[in-house]
Amino acid sequence: MLKERPFIIGHMPDLITPLSRYLPLIPNSVAGQWLAQFESVPQDKKWILDPFGSSPSLVVEAARSGFRILVTANNPISRFLIEMLSSPPSMSDFRSSLAALASSPRGSERLENHIRNLYHIRCLECGAEIEVDAFLWERNATLPYACIYSCDQCSFQGERDLSLDVAKFASEFSSSSLHHARALERVASRDDPDRIFVEEALAVYSPRAIYILFILINKLDGLHLTTNQHRALQALLLSACENATAMWGYPTQRERPRQLAIPPRFRENNIWKTMESAIDLWASPGSSIPVSIWPELVGEDNGVCIYEGPLRDLINLKQKSDHHLPQIQAILTAIPRPNQAFWTLSALWAGWLWGREAVGPFKSVLRRRPL
Ligand SMILES: [Zn+2]
Repeated sequence: MLKERPFIIGHMPDLITPLSRYLPLIPNSVAGQWLAQFESVPQDKKWILDPFGSSPSLVVEAARSGFRILVTANNPISRFLIEMLSSPPSMSDFRSSLAALASSPRGSERLENHIRNLYHIRCLECGAEIEVDAFLWERNATLPYACIYSCDQCSFQGERDLSLDVAKFASEFSSSSLHHARALERVASRDDPDRIFVEEALAVYSPRAIYILFILINKLDGLHLTTNQHRALQALLLSACENATAMWGYPTQRERPRQLAIPPRFRENNIWKTMESAIDLWASPGSSIPVSIWPELVGEDNGVCIYEGPLRDLINLKQKSDHHLPQIQAILTAIPRPNQAFWTLSALWAGWLWGREAVGPFKSVLRRRPL
């Protein structure tokens, strides 16, 4: 007879978190229940280590349970997720930063209008001008075959096949090889041997997606934003980068892609709409917890200390006595999923959002072949 359950039961989160389809699925409250055994440890000794940093929500839950957690995060996107989950900007920071982006100029237009117009067609039922939620494509096709939208005028809602004329119109936009070149250049310079891998990874983005993403990313540093508004806008642009890939199968399934592959039928999401709906994913009502970047340690209560390098460097530091590392009580981690898609896209997105310097040695993931 089983006397005791040999594992801790948590509960799956209700909310999908940003980029969650690429991250380990860890039930909520498992970390907190397991850490309860260290309750009697003096507060100043409550240090734990996460050597992989592959689950930002696990890191944050451990810190919220009253611990200081040293987390090794070599991936700049994972670091950003950990920082954002620990200390999210407010809902108003997200809304105001998106509003500032929306009203910035693009030629003689508002930027928001310029981008939304790329998704405008006539309703296939009543002829009113509508904005699609997504175009639907077959892999390798030159035109979309259908679209998804709702029309206020005739109340149509759902999927409609596109006529040839409308499909041609929908595939026309201001294509620019300049944006494609910039998308490459932000990650790997012209003489970089890894450039070919960046080029391969770019294949999961349509020319329209790259055109739009780079209009948005180019605006990021020109807006007058507070620090938290700037962080909020980076988060929304990261969601835009995620949603703009062609890796969204149709009909919609709960996919957890591990490789950079375009499904036989896929959604080309309306990028502006995905940024609007990403606000609810990023803005968290929970209180902030302190975050520091090693060698700065977080204060005495609880918090997250991020080591911005690979685990082997941390181990080397540990062996040198001249570097102060806290005494670790326990190791708590989510074993990373082999996920070439997430690693490669992380290198792309980090380069796009923060430039080549930010990608740094992490760019070596581009050379690894799919597992
Ligand atoms: Zn209509």
